[in-house]
Amino acid sequence: MGQGERGSCRVRVNLDGKLVSLVYGFPCAMHIDPVEKKPLYHFLPGTSILSLATAGCNLHCLNCQNWEISQLDPEDGTASQVPPQTLLDLAKKHGCPSIAYTYTDPVIYYEYALESSRIAKENGIKNVLVTAGYINIKPWKRLLEVTDAANIDLKGITNEFYEKVCSATLRPVLDSLVAAREAGIVLEVTHLIIPTLNDNPRDTARLCRWIRENLGPDTPVHFSRFHPRYKMRNLPPTPSATLDRAYEIAHEAGLEYVYIGNILTRKGQDTICPGCSQMLVSRSGFKVRETLVSEGKCPKCGKEIPGLWK
Ligand SMILES: [Zn+2]
Repeated sequence: MGQGERGSCRVRVNLDGKLVSLVYGFPCAMHIDPVEKKPLYHFLPGTSILSLATAGCNLHCLNCQNWEISQLDPEDGTASQVPPQTLLDLAKKHGCPSIAYTYTDPVIYYEYALESSRIAKENGIKNVLVTAGYINIKPWKRLLEVTDAANIDLKGITNEFYEKVCSATLRPVLDSLVAAREAGIVLEVTHLIIPTLNDNPRDTARLCRWIRENLGPDTPVHFSRFHPRYKMRNLPPTPSATLDRAYEIAHEAGLEYVYIGNILTRKGQDTICPGCSQMLVSRSGFKVRETLVSEGKCPKCGKEIPGLWK
């Protein structure tokens, strides 16, 4: 990359041999969301989370839901100046116990996410990463030190899928997942099922087995419905039957907390105790109707339920 040139993320430029971020402190999107929308179902259920993103991304998924900002040169969009301290003040002002680095990918506004997380943590506000986990292991571990929870996309279980759909590779994502588990943060995984590309039941089973063996059977997994977007408008939305089948496959593979998202359905919405089948958290869309988890445990059988519940 020569003088003045940028990486494929669009937000890092070579200035005199140094890579400089063009988006530090300049989010282009900022909202207050229910934490369930991240999705995180085992982390402070029913609370609001200050959510932000800057322009740019290190992936170029053909189906990106946020391509208007992820595939944007920062100077072509509008952004506000929000230094880390202001983010903290905003979270407090709006009664958000946590901040989410999301929408595009915190990996591309790394320095901003890291510094904001440090300041938030020092002041009792929690930090959430919503990411594809496509990052080198050393900076990833540094970021995990100031992170409380993450939802990491596992977009497929073959390298071929990552190359073809995301312009990326699989291995770094698997390593990030394992490192997040080892860091002891609240970890949930999202897998978007795209018709004809990664909806083969054998691949779904393989993905579930990998999660069980490498992250543990108690890792919450969200199967998410694909909607035709960006450069992938030629494929239909994921049929509800495909998501139902993935739900069954995951349970057969031994996963204990399986959810279905991006679609209106009753199945895969609630948290059920794997020990005694007691309903623990009842949800409707992004709304939490009832939480029965008490001190991190099932009130009926006493099984510990992974997550942060208060
Ligand atoms: Zn129970």
